[in-house]
Amino acid sequence: MFSLNNVSVRYGETVALRPVSLDVRPGATLVLIGPSGSGKTTLLRVLAGLVAPEGEVRFDGEVVTDWRGVRRRLGYVVQDGGLFPHLTARENVALMSHELGRDRAETEARIEELADLTHLNRAQLDRYPAELSGGQKQRVGIVRALMLEPDVLLLDEPLSALDPIIRAELAKELKTIIETLGTTVVLVTHSLSEAQFFSDRLVLMRGGSVVQEGSYEEFERAP
Ligand code: ADP
Ligand code: ADP
Repeated sequence: MFSLNNVSVRYGETVALRPVSLDVRPGATLVLIGPSGSGKTTLLRVLAGLVAPEGEVRFDGEVVTDWRGVRRRLGYVVQDGGLFPHLTARENVALMSHELGRDRAETEARIEELADLTHLNRAQLDRYPAELSGGQKQRVGIVRALMLEPDVLLLDEPLSALDPIIRAELAKELKTIIETLGTTVVLVTHSLSEAQFFSDRLVLMRGGSVVQEGSYEEFERAP
């Protein structure tokens, strides 16, 4: 789906990403782990087309020169949901739905369906982001991304602000959704158990480099 070839990113003096080469296979879930500051978010932002890196990024085999077409096929969820503060949760979620050719009723039906899956109720959907908890905002962000039926879902610590019980529940729901839709996922997490739960493949980052890549089982076996 994505193929990175010697991709690097600098912010002024800071090297956020050293040359990284990486493949993201279609339909698979790739999990980025590593200490804070190791470049995980930067890598995700490269895939989202939000940072212009050096090196080559391919999408579906083609070198990406214009991100507009690619972005339409991506859902990117940042840690706090990235919601527009002046719109209610429902308005945030419905925002681009008409672009998929849905009418109002279809949009509402899809919102209800996804809200059910992510355990958001009607009252919460009608609140503004400032009136929602961190975990609720994250869930609204996930619903907003899923509304657009992206081929690739980029998730930055999607479950980090949730309490443990909802977290386990939502992890299950999210995995089911991902598997049902066949969505390709790149997920950043601090949690090894989350990494094990979600991933086909783990990428361990440190100091802007990929230091290890493989299945969870391979990571367990490694010294
Ligand atoms: P390896 O030979 O490195 O052990 P495999 O090709 O046997 O890896 O794949 C093992 C698992 O990891 C499979 O489920 C595969 O879909 C997944 N996988 C391999 N490479 C990637 C990748 N770049 N992105 C996502 N998933 C991957
Ligand atoms: P992680 O997601 O693993 O915590 P990041 O990708 O956020 O790591 O950060 C990688 C490095 O790049 C860190 O040293 C961080 O301080 C730096 N960095 C990230 N974003 C910026 C920015 N906008 N401006 C300057 N430095 C940044």
